Amino acid sequence: MTRTIIEGGHIATVDAAGTEHDGGHVVIEAGVIAAVGSGRAPEQWRAGADVVDGTGTLITPGLVNTHHHLYQWLTRGYAQDSILFDWLTSLYPLWSRIDAGLTGVGAAGAMAVLARSGCTTVGDHHYIFPKGSGDIVGSIVEAASTVGVRLHATRGSMDLGASQGGLPPDFAVETTDAALAASHEAVERYHDPSFDAMVRVAVAPCSPFSVTADLLREAAVLARSLGVRLHTHASETIEEDAYCAENFGKTPTQYLEDLGWLGDDVWMAHCVHLDDRAIERYAATGTGVAHCPSSNGRLAAGIAPVRAMLDAGVPVGLGVDGAASNESGQLGIEVREAVLMNRLRTGADSFSVRDGLRIATMGGARVLGRQEEIGSLEVGKLADIAVWQVDRVEHAGIIDPVAALGLGAMPPLKRLFVGGRAVVEDATLVTTDEMALARDVAAASRGLAERL
Ligand SMILES: [Zn+2]
Repeated sequence: MTRTIIEGGHIATVDAAGTEHDGGHVVIEAGVIAAVGSGRAPEQWRAGADVVDGTGTLITPGLVNTHHHLYQWLTRGYAQDSILFDWLTSLYPLWSRIDAGLTGVGAAGAMAVLARSGCTTVGDHHYIFPKGSGDIVGSIVEAASTVGVRLHATRGSMDLGASQGGLPPDFAVETTDAALAASHEAVERYHDPSFDAMVRVAVAPCSPFSVTADLLREAAVLARSLGVRLHTHASETIEEDAYCAENFGKTPTQYLEDLGWLGDDVWMAHCVHLDDRAIERYAATGTGVAHCPSSNGRLAAGIAPVRAMLDAGVPVGLGVDGAASNESGQLGIEVREAVLMNRLRTGADSFSVRDGLRIATMGGARVLGRQEEIGSLEVGKLADIAVWQVDRVEHAGIIDPVAALGLGAMPPLKRLFVGGRAVVEDATLVTTDEMALARDVAAASRGLAERL
């Protein structure tokens, strides 16, 4: 069947006007949205179509995850009461035992849970590459293909060990040249620039306190020469602010801008501690932000000024962050987290459930540079669609289906489509055996811990 009709649900298109259809239809043909509107699908589409009854559902664009460390699916529950720098230093030794085989298992587990929580596009940031660990980026690409989600892999890196004034131990870092060469190779091997690409690759040195200025500068030159995007962590904690002040005499934003790291081809994770001047620079340059509310809460990093960023015109997407600082790993939950956290910072009327849905979809698409392809339900876009069941006892009677997602329990999925292919049906992943995957994840987590 190459044509699918979903009809009868409440459709939140997340187009520029925020159009919604209560009891509408979406038509998928050859992996692309062929029609969307109110009422039943017109007769012209019905011949030979597979019809999904969307009665009692909320139909949204597939959610876009803009920041993750998929391998951390194997290292959850550690350092439960630590702030970022202490949490990192306690986990580096474990992480530096990772290899391609273990990463593939962790990535599949993390992406299975993302898919079951409404996510169709997965951004990953992998920055730890022990010697002899194999093709780690390749293992993540393969896991995404198994689960059936769209992947924005990044080839991360660290080259500033503790002996040179960095945070990570020396055994966890690469040389600058090796990191650049491997980043180049990952782009050449896996990046697909086409409209419906299932895999794109970006270049992603880890953070100002684990990477040299040389690597940041050269990585930006490399990415731009290859036509791919740039990603890193920025302004996550007050300790990072203090590190940049002491070592560079600058804020993280000033430091990164001086190294060529602000631009509409760059997105940063967290941005909790941006001042007004920094927000203005992000907005003026089109630099994107991955907002990760649960992780910021877990590590007590603070609450990012998302309202101010959006008002200034900064592209903002949503992210779960690595599962070692967000054991849930469910992107659907982050919509509610974003609503609650931003209200704690700026007030009850400052951030609506529709703001939450918009950053989780169109915002993320913009952050990843895919606003023409995904992020809203509009004719001609890729058919990445979440069909949330909102008529069961958890949600029955909630007067607004978008509030069911943004304020209620995370709804189960009736369907999740990626490029028109059903990846989740009736809350179950249909692309891979979840029970077998759970056993593999448990064994891999244990195996990694035993390497310490
Ligand atoms: Zn992160």
